[in-house]
Amino acid sequence: MSTSENIEAALKEAERVCKKQKVCAEKTALCFEKLIQALLSAQKRADSVDNAQLIQELHHALSDQANVSDLTESTKDLHSAVNKLGKAVDKTFVQDICAATRPVEFDQPTLNKVIAEHFYQQGNFSVGDTFVREAGIPNGDGLKRPYIAMHSVLKELLAHNLQPALQWTEQHKDELRASSGDAAVSSFEFRLHRLQFLHTLQVAGPSKALAYARAHFAGFQESEMSEIQRLMGCLCFVKRPASSPYSDLMAPAQWNEVAREFARQCCGLLGQACESPLLVAVAAGSIALPTLLKLATVMAGQNQDFQTCSQLPVELELGSEFIFHSLFACPVSREQSTAENPPMLLPCGHVLCKQSLQKIAKSPVRSFKCPYCPVEATLNSCRAIFFPDA
Ligand SMILES: [Zn+2]
Repeated sequence: MSTSENIEAALKEAERVCKKQKVCAEKTALCFEKLIQALLSAQKRADSVDNAQLIQELHHALSDQANVSDLTESTKDLHSAVNKLGKAVDKTFVQDICAATRPVEFDQPTLNKVIAEHFYQQGNFSVGDTFVREAGIPNGDGLKRPYIAMHSVLKELLAHNLQPALQWTEQHKDELRASSGDAAVSSFEFRLHRLQFLHTLQVAGPSKALAYARAHFAGFQESEMSEIQRLMGCLCFVKRPASSPYSDLMAPAQWNEVAREFARQCCGLLGQACESPLLVAVAAGSIALPTLLKLATVMAGQNQDFQTCSQLPVELELGSEFIFHSLFACPVSREQSTAENPPMLLPCGHVLCKQSLQKIAKSPVRSFKCPYCPVEATLNSCRAIFFPDA
């Protein structure tokens, strides 16, 4: 069974437990109700009836076969359902992930700060405050403040109010330009105005929208002309949106996209990635975990210690969303390239780090054979390669 089928099966067992629990709770309540009634009626008659007779009656009520067997049956049913659920859960999840962990000395204050910042970035302010207090993080307010501003704008954005986002962009224009360049800021600003135009068109009609365009689109004529033309085209289709060739502009997803873009700009100014580093680390770890667990088992079988090996013997493929920088590791020295030791392209197309090449070549003009193919090269015929930073 695949993991998702296992999860399905576990969910079904959980549902069964809920049903059995309900039945059991009802029967238990009924059983106790009967007992309480018996006791109450005995109490009422205590003065008028013979004690021995009362006790006999009570004894009879307590050991009423139908009542008791109802209770034990439903309790038994519940226990067996809980048991089955436990087994289904055990089958679905690896309970002990310790085998895949390695002893790491965390810098606790830094880790605490990352966790607190994660809560604030996600907008979980009260959880963040509690964490800051309990972990004794200094300057928690300083950590929180920028995210409060960000989330108040985001809240308005998602309620289809663009004014705070436009104001924020205006206020931070210089910093935004310094960090992401004129073109990027202008394009983000235009996205906000474009959405405001479309929103105005939908809620206030074409003449208000046209007035908005006149007031705000002038500065974007050069860079966004074709987009402005499409927006003007929208004016003609207000009354018949179904036949509009511009319906993509009206999609409700636009709001979420603009909100995401706003959060990215905001986090960029704070020097933070827009995805919480903690989330990224946990997600990467979750993807790697099954491979690491398998590896730990295999290594244990070969009497190797997974926890102390200096390098993993396999590559962990996490997927393209986890690739943030272009990296080059020299296939000869196995070292990562640096500005002083850049990757160098040989005439044959193979790439080595500069230091490795210098060792092989010995002099700039002496010809040498590429370590990976028969083609000859000289150091002077090799070129440094630069990877874009994005
Ligand atoms: Zn080669």
